[in-house]
Amino acid sequence: MDNKIFQLKKEGLSNDERTNALDNFAQYIDTQANHWLGYQNIPKFNYNDDIKRFLNNHLNNIGDPFVSGNCTINSKSMEKAVLDYYAKLWNAKTPHNPHDPESYWGYVLTMGSTEGNLYGLWNARDYLKGRKLLTDQNEGSKSETHRTHYLRAIPKEENLNAYRPVAFFSEDTHYSIIKAMRVLRIPTFYEVGKKHYPTHNPLSKSGKWTHDFYEVPSLKGKNGPGSIDVEKLAVLVNFFASKGHPILICCNYGTTFKGAYDEVKAIGERLMPIFKKNGLIDRKVVYGEEGHTDTRNGFWIHVDGALGAAYMPFLEMAYMQGKIDSSGPVFDFRLPWVNSIVMSGHKWIGTPFPCGIFMTKVKYQLFPPTAPEYINSPDTTFAGSRNGLSPIILWDFLARNSYEAQINRAIRCESLASYAEEQLKSVRAYHPSLDLMVERTPMALTVRFRKPNENIVFKYSLSCETIIINGVEHHYAHIFTMDAVTKELIDKFINDLRKPDAFETEILKAEEKPSKIRVKKSEKISFSSERNRGWR
Ligand SMILES: *Cc1c(COP(=O)(O)O)cnc(C)c1O
Repeated sequence: MDNKIFQLKKEGLSNDERTNALDNFAQYIDTQANHWLGYQNIPKFNYNDDIKRFLNNHLNNIGDPFVSGNCTINSKSMEKAVLDYYAKLWNAKTPHNPHDPESYWGYVLTMGSTEGNLYGLWNARDYLKGRKLLTDQNEGSKSETHRTHYLRAIPKEENLNAYRPVAFFSEDTHYSIIKAMRVLRIPTFYEVGKKHYPTHNPLSKSGKWTHDFYEVPSLKGKNGPGSIDVEKLAVLVNFFASKGHPILICCNYGTTFKGAYDEVKAIGERLMPIFKKNGLIDRKVVYGEEGHTDTRNGFWIHVDGALGAAYMPFLEMAYMQGKIDSSGPVFDFRLPWVNSIVMSGHKWIGTPFPCGIFMTKVKYQLFPPTAPEYINSPDTTFAGSRNGLSPIILWDFLARNSYEAQINRAIRCESLASYAEEQLKSVRAYHPSLDLMVERTPMALTVRFRKPNENIVFKYSLSCETIIINGVEHHYAHIFTMDAVTKELIDKFINDLRKPDAFETEILKAEEKPSKIRVKKSEKISFSSERNRGWR
């Protein structure tokens, strides 16, 4: 496609030029969508029947989903229905009730899980720092009555770390988590460890914080590759909790590259005694001179379920009904230690634009939020203006697809992944001198393998990542068997991989050299490797 056809001119484009550009673009999109294999999105829809008309209005869900406000052309009625649906699916207490601390609260994201992670970690940070937002009701002149301010908890002499949270996440974590930590200035265990306890790393013989400890190690090998190593996590958490720090943990439920599920249940079971021993359960938070107090936990467990939170509940149902023989680890609000969950709408469900869901409980919300008179709805979400089309698309999908339909969809995608794995293994016979590195994490909708040549990468929109194993670079690509993928498409892809030039031999040479990538000079700003982050 020639990008020149899109260039805009002062006088605009003629009707022919404009139509020609649009037609070319449509053709390009169509070709790419027909070979879509590399990412966990669904590339094509047909909303011509009854949804298309809503493109002709500006729908804006600004403010809190549960307070309509004065900006009345919104889809909050559908947004609330969608939130209720996921609250039930994730076993939270429904309906949302602002006066019931145990009930759920959430909203439909305008960005995807990136926004949900940012919001969740912001919420976690302020909760763990013992912050409270208060509105001055009666102070000052009338014009100041909407002023809000944070109350800060002041640590006591005996534990100066009481409101200094430390974050933990595995090496398979999505880059949006690292970005959120940076934006929010939440220190990771590596950063705090290196600065304040430089020779006391409980996981290393030398006690040093080498670059192997930027993140919590993941399990390697065949038994769950890519999920966080719970034992190592426990050793690290125990160390920082015993120094008085509150603990923030980000779990992955479906890692981006390997599709691995962190054992959220086992993590809680292993860590609760550590939290208890270190006074992190129901601790009393005192706000300086003002004398306010409240009781809250000194830990937060956030579940990044961008893909997995949307479909794993259906595989669990399939398992309960005896339709498949295993199920993933429990991750939802059945576990009392889960504080927040995020999911992307454009992944499992598939939407024409990014969206997603953030969910927590009323008792963990940053309370009370500001309530700008301008919109007459509390400003409880991250974005101001919010995409009002997303809840309609999500609602429409859920109205059309029963639990049973989604169970069948999940089983189909799962078995397609297993088919793709088998087929990829069969490609080995065509390239006997190469290690094709075909691997699949149990129950993942993704299979990873040796990166093929650039033409194949482009044709199938393959996501690629370099993974360093024992100091040696390995170039991987992966495919996702989302609902739009067919057996025929996989067969076509396999056929391309059988061709003699399907894999580039330069990659072989690169692999023989040990990697230098992880050695960073600028330790001061860069506490975590961002290279290729998230595509693991
Ligand atoms: C895709 C993904 C994200 C980011 O989601 P967006 O919807 O692209 O913002 C975050 N975490 C994981 C595990 C993901 O797979």
